[in-house]
Amino acid sequence: MISVEKALEHVNQCAQQLPDAMVPIAAALGLRLAESVISRVDSPPFDKSMLDGYAVLSHDSSPTRKVVEQVLAGGTPHHAVELGTTINVMTGAPMPDGADAVVKQEDITQSDDSISMPQSGVTAGAGVLPQGSAFLADQEVLQAGRRLSPIDIALLAEVGKAEVKVTPRPRVAVLATGNELVPSGQPVKAGQICNSNGPMLVALLESMRASVLDLGIGRDDPDELKQLMQQGLEADVLLVTGGVSAGVMDLVPGVLEQLGVRQVFHKVCMKPGKPLWFGQRKNEDHSTLVFGLPGNPVSTLVAFEIFVKPSLRALSDGKFQDPRPLHGVLSAAVSHRGKRPTYLPCHLDFGTRREGKPKVEPLPWRGSADLAALSKANALAILPAGDYQLDIGQQVEVLSIGSHCLR
Ligand code: AMP
Ligand code: MG
Repeated sequence: MISVEKALEHVNQCAQQLPDAMVPIAAALGLRLAESVISRVDSPPFDKSMLDGYAVLSHDSSPTRKVVEQVLAGGTPHHAVELGTTINVMTGAPMPDGADAVVKQEDITQSDDSISMPQSGVTAGAGVLPQGSAFLADQEVLQAGRRLSPIDIALLAEVGKAEVKVTPRPRVAVLATGNELVPSGQPVKAGQICNSNGPMLVALLESMRASVLDLGIGRDDPDELKQLMQQGLEADVLLVTGGVSAGVMDLVPGVLEQLGVRQVFHKVCMKPGKPLWFGQRKNEDHSTLVFGLPGNPVSTLVAFEIFVKPSLRALSDGKFQDPRPLHGVLSAAVSHRGKRPTYLPCHLDFGTRREGKPKVEPLPWRGSADLAALSKANALAILPAGDYQLDIGQQVEVLSIGSHCLR
């Protein structure tokens, strides 16, 4: 059994940033841009009318102008505008040669094939968006490292990029194991329970914007587990829950070994979460991190928060960051016994900032299956190993479990 710190070091060593990949821009929202984007075009690419109106020479003093052509958006003019003439242009149409302004449709009066100009005349450049006024060809429009927003996607489309180089989302496969499990919503026979870990992990991963492959439930049968885990090993990370303790049906480590997954550690000195198994399968072009998470839902959550979350961050941005506890003060006494540090679900209340350190309210602990208590928690209080009592007002370390997004 190794310490949490040692186990984190091992996970850190195995979790390498994923190689950059080209993806269609429609699939790039929220991903980190791995290249600088240089426009190949001016924006706008031509002098463009911003109005539905009439392209004219601003210095022409003729009170009326002969309309020689109409140009729609997407069309191109066949004539130039000369003294005494105009071209009817729609919003988005290229400016005809000669013309340097557009008079609004609403400001002219039309008779037959001529228009009368407004009394006030028109100033040069009015109604025209000059070529390259937003940006020029060869200009950088997006910097590498940026997380792509919906507007960035529009900009990529504007400059003609169909694909873009990004750091991809980690692909994570989830497999719940256990003969007792049935999918929620199906009849539950004697001795059976609903699979809650699977949906919890899928939701945690989706809230982190990982790309999830839900493999459902695997029976405690070596062949079935092998076949499902084989699929899961295609992903960057495989999360298996259950079957990693010491029972006769705890087949997961053995099957993983048969599939070529090297065990890095099994059993961590923590409570809950002790049976945690971690390994890696690595070949020339692909690596899969495999976490065998203990079956009890609270254990699964704690192991996810402490080990899986930092590893997903490392895959996505290359930076492994150990969980960072805050300091809070207890709003109720807690007693601790045992040689393993405990991660106790608690409610962290920041109150108003002026009140100093956040208050930590330990939630009634009814063991590692108590999802009802866990659902009230927004943090885990870290109680160090040993036999002791902590009183109201004493300081404890707490890990927030609120925010999940990959940065
Ligand atoms: P195991 O790690 O397989 O020995 O399971 C430990 C405990 O967690 C047992 O009581 C299981 O029934 C329970 N458990 C295992 N997997 C799940 C799951 N996916 N959802 C809810 N409880 C589970
Ligand atoms: Mg089991």
